[in-house]
Amino acid sequence: MQLIKDLNTFSAIRSGLEGEIGLVPTMGFLHEGHKALIRRARMECSILFVTIFVNPTQFAPGEDLDTYPRNLPGDLRICEELEVDFVFAPDSFSILYPEGFCTFVECKIGLPGTNPKSEGAFRPHFFRGVATVVAKLFNIVKPSKAYFGQKDAQQCSVVQRMVVDLNLNVEIIIVPTVREADGLAMSSRNAYLTKEERERATILYQMLQRAKELYLKGITVIDRIREEMESLARQVDGFHLHYVSICDPKTFIEYENEIPPSDTLVCVAGTLGKARLIDNIRLN
Ligand code: AMP
Repeated sequence: MQLIKDLNTFSAIRSGLEGEIGLVPTMGFLHEGHKALIRRARMECSILFVTIFVNPTQFAPGEDLDTYPRNLPGDLRICEELEVDFVFAPDSFSILYPEGFCTFVECKIGLPGTNPKSEGAFRPHFFRGVATVVAKLFNIVKPSKAYFGQKDAQQCSVVQRMVVDLNLNVEIIIVPTVREADGLAMSSRNAYLTKEERERATILYQMLQRAKELYLKGITVIDRIREEMESLARQVDGFHLHYVSICDPKTFIEYENEIPPSDTLVCVAGTLGKARLIDNIRLN
């Protein structure tokens, strides 16, 4: 495995490579969720790149850019074990955002005004930052396949939309969410949770399971499902619910009244202590 830190080295290496090139973009502090993406990509691609870059443009001022957990030596050990070929880990923001940088990719789905119950509405920088860095990584790595986690369902939809809208020649592969034994979706930000908060953090999973149970019982009235989910959230000390969204997974347009027979995504987000947690489930 080779660690690459700068763009000149990267392009020299990349220009000599041919084959099915896979990319797993990450912000590092790798866990079993990331490992599932890497394993899947390893099976499907002859050459595998993992990128590790805490992307500043997807954080708003005051968010956790400076404190985001980092552990490059540990991440490299994991990548080595999983037989990654190349890790691209720029060691300064300026490698991807040189002085004067002012061009962004803006995907309008999920922005305020489209759905007030989305990551885009709660974190206005987020989708623009994600779309921009992913477009840049696609241009740098030139992968034929790129792997993303269902855990960040809205992010997946933004990337899929961007690939269609900008005619990017990359196949997007979505890997199911990897969970702890008690259902909590794995996330680098789980490291912010205290022991007590960690126990309570299963609330997101419980809310989603409740939605699924009701749906499987034939209950499709959205207010009823939402109320039950919100009532569970209220029972957990210190949990501040940001939203319950019951929407079309491609557009995030919120369904009203009844859950339709078409695809339905239920997303929840909230904070517990210092951690902002998100999770989602598909109903049908
Ligand atoms: P991050 O490092 O948090 O930006 O995540 C990098 C990639 O790993 C994204 O595509 C995430 O959706 C994916 N990912 C993060 N957590 C999980 C998880 N628990 N299960 C599956 N994929 C995940």
